[in-house]
Amino acid sequence: MADKSVLIIGAGIGGLSAGCYAQINGYRVRILEMNSVPGGVCTAWRRDGYTFDGCVHNLAGSCPKSVFHSMWRELGVVPAIEMHAFDELVRVERPDGAPLVVHCDLDRLAAHMKQLSPDDAAVIDELVIASRRFRDFEMMGLALAGPLGRLAILRVMPTLIKYSGVTMTRFAGRFTDPFLRRAFPTLLYDGPDVPVLLLLSFLGRMEIGDLGWPVGGSANFARAIAQRFAQLGGEITYGTQVASILTEGDRAVGVRLADGSAHHADIIVSNAYGPATIFEMLGGRYVSNAINAYYDSPEDRVEMGVHVSLGVARHLAPEPHAIVLPLNTPVIIAGEERDRFFVETFGFDESLAPPGKSVLKVVFATSCKYWERVHAAPERYAAEKAAIADAVISQLEHRFPGFRQEIEVVDVATPITTKRFTGNGHGFKVSGTRMMLAMLTGKKLSQTLAGLRNFYMVGQWAGLPGLPLVAAMGKDLACAMCRNDGKPFVTA
Ligand SMILES: Cc1cc2nc3c(=O)[nH]c(=O)nc-3n(C[C@H](O)[C@H](O)[C@H](O)COP(=O)(O)OP(=O)(O)OC[C@H]3O[C@@H](n4cnc5c(N)ncnc54)[C@H](O)[C@@H]3O)c2cc1C
Repeated sequence: MADKSVLIIGAGIGGLSAGCYAQINGYRVRILEMNSVPGGVCTAWRRDGYTFDGCVHNLAGSCPKSVFHSMWRELGVVPAIEMHAFDELVRVERPDGAPLVVHCDLDRLAAHMKQLSPDDAAVIDELVIASRRFRDFEMMGLALAGPLGRLAILRVMPTLIKYSGVTMTRFAGRFTDPFLRRAFPTLLYDGPDVPVLLLLSFLGRMEIGDLGWPVGGSANFARAIAQRFAQLGGEITYGTQVASILTEGDRAVGVRLADGSAHHADIIVSNAYGPATIFEMLGGRYVSNAINAYYDSPEDRVEMGVHVSLGVARHLAPEPHAIVLPLNTPVIIAGEERDRFFVETFGFDESLAPPGKSVLKVVFATSCKYWERVHAAPERYAAEKAAIADAVISQLEHRFPGFRQEIEVVDVATPITTKRFTGNGHGFKVSGTRMMLAMLTGKKLSQTLAGLRNFYMVGQWAGLPGLPLVAAMGKDLACAMCRNDGKPFVTA
């Protein structure tokens, strides 16, 4: 029998990974991508010599001790891309005293926190002991584990039970020191409602050098996987938007492009935005109660939805790479009062800026609807972006005196930008606790649709967001295709 053909809608990391593994296993794969570059939301853009990164902060699998490392090798990321390990997760500053520095070395972290608040020694010791449980247990790694591998959960079960349902804010309530109580909820990307288990897992894994940064950033990372796909004989057609998925007798048989042309294949995979795949490309013909429940009231909040990126003629390498910066006076950004900024500096990666210069970025959670309203009037949209940039620069001037004069490039991206380039709309309707549960149980939302044969979904809309998780889903999907076709699954 001739090799089966596969059409994948979207060259996000999920689509690229599925494409690579399918190609390795003898399928003939073509990816149709509406953008002009691979990567989807895992992207960056160049402006006058600066690279503004729109995605990666921490990559699971950057260290050889991670189960994801071999997957990144299979996908061409390792050894092509150098990995940078961080020595601190974040630094929370304050106007009137020493910052909280979240060192990756947990002994150093404990000593530092006890110096800030000796009275909280017991809670600090508990935090460090619990984090160390995750040094050798990679929670996200369960995405690659079979049923037996999942038994590794038993090793950390008491810790999982103890902290299940505990958010960063709730844990912070146990500190007596007012600064620690205030600072702690912001430690993981300034997400006070994030489960504290996620922080414990980050601290444990970062101590062994994981959750680092792929040098060159997100676009470089995506390009490496696209190159691997091409080397394997896969084909990507860019600038090609799929309008609908063609079906015959409840079997997916091809796609129709926005230009009206039809393309057929034995297997159709969508890596695109979930609601667009299910309700637009498939016209809502294959839905279930679970899918309706997930999509009926879209999540308006988009975490890290606004990116203010600045190209600065200043060497920022000595600065912390992530700072939670309290503001002297709150400012209104995208219609909401903000009393602190989450600031990222990229001086540690010299490839992102001309010599002696650096990139700095501030990100904000935002409302999707807010931006849809603003965007309805183009002049208002442009004015709003300019006002946000100005407010951000004014505040940064207090922390980095002389900064405004050194800024060479300003770029503001919003949820409208993300939609335009990747098709992704609203945020995820998954609570932190549900996300943890899905990670631990491996339960995905909708990799297949009931009643539709020869069709699969892959990526964050079929499971959970996260680069290793969507890539693992791609691997899993190719494995399922091999199983259905009665052939062994190989990875090289
Ligand atoms: C700001 C930000 C920071 C993040 N930080 C991290 C991090 O530090 N670590 C981490 O592990 N993860 C991080 N993530 C999450 C991670 O990047 C995503 O979960 C992951 O990249 C999603 O990949 P995907 O393949 O599922 O989908 P997408 O990236 O959405 O890719 C979908 C692709 O389909 C294409 N497409 C859509 N519709 C069509 C159509 N009709 N026709 C043709 N093509 C189409 C799109 O253009 C896109 O290329 C971050 C995400 C964001 C947004």
